[in-house]
Amino acid sequence: MPQPSVSFEFFPPRDETQAELFRAARDELLALAPEYVSVTFGAGGSTRSRTVDTVLEIARQSGVAVAPHISCMSEDLDSLHQLVETYAGADIRRLVVLRGDRPSGRYAGVFRHAADLVADIRQRWGDRFHLEVACYPEHHPESDTPESDLRHFRAKVAAGADGAITQYFFNAECYFRFVEDARALGVDVPIVPGIMPITNYQGLARFSRICGAEIPAWIDKRLQAWDADGNREALREFGHDVVCDLSRRLLEGGAPGLHFYTLNRSAPSLRLCRDLGLASVQSPSALTSIS
Ligand code: FAD
Repeated sequence: MPQPSVSFEFFPPRDETQAELFRAARDELLALAPEYVSVTFGAGGSTRSRTVDTVLEIARQSGVAVAPHISCMSEDLDSLHQLVETYAGADIRRLVVLRGDRPSGRYAGVFRHAADLVADIRQRWGDRFHLEVACYPEHHPESDTPESDLRHFRAKVAAGADGAITQYFFNAECYFRFVEDARALGVDVPIVPGIMPITNYQGLARFSRICGAEIPAWIDKRLQAWDADGNREALREFGHDVVCDLSRRLLEGGAPGLHFYTLNRSAPSLRLCRDLGLASVQSPSALTSIS
């Protein structure tokens, strides 16, 4: 069986303090020799220049492939094309293509749907980039029905996406069912589960409400109780066990790899990779730091 692909997602740091934490996390995770790392594009395009700087810094300083996230949230089509051209000029070969989130008061987006941006990039740059898109085993919160959301996912692949990364979820069955339904519709690209390590409750609960990811009650109630007691150690240990079991089931069930939402912290993802046997032999120094 081929070794599962591992990728790590970062966000561009906001200031020097965050930048130091990011670089430390980045270096530890790069030591695991992931297939690629990705860098998010802030809601409404708010991190455009910081995303570019972060991407180019990783590309310059490491041999690991970097995939910038790019969204429809841009002032106009020209500036969006300039951004893609900047990446093409820096020999970036992979993009994560999204519609993007839009905070109120900012651009409506140069395209309405990610599929349009995928088609536009394919038309202008041909096969220059490997394109990943997002998909939602628990359905995108704005979608009318699960079926229509799946059809819209298929449209992104038909427009030229090479692979997909899922929104995070905590229920393995919903991933397997989603993949089965996508295959039945003719979607044949790899669908890599997005993995969210659990390290705190408040942030996870807030973000899950926004993005439509369900925290199953048996997990939610435990996390909530430990959070109320201030028992961070118990919360983290339980969170690790839950996400490790989920990831193992996904890989055993045929998931082609795992994409970790690191939130710019290395320890939770490193520990998961170690316990899942995904850590490369090139990385003993990174692993000793968490044992
Ligand atoms: P789309 O594929 O365009 O879908 C958005 C909604 O429109 C869905 O409900 C879909 O069903 C519907 N839809 C699609 N096509 C049609 C159509 N033709 N007619 C009617 N309805 C349609 N956000 C950021 O801002 N920056 C990031 O860096 C970022 N990274 C992400 C990475 C991953 C792996 C994931 C899963 C999400 C990420 N997001 C990011 C969040 C993402 O931008 C939001 O979930 C956004 O609301 C939808 O983006 P999309 O690319 O899935 O959009």
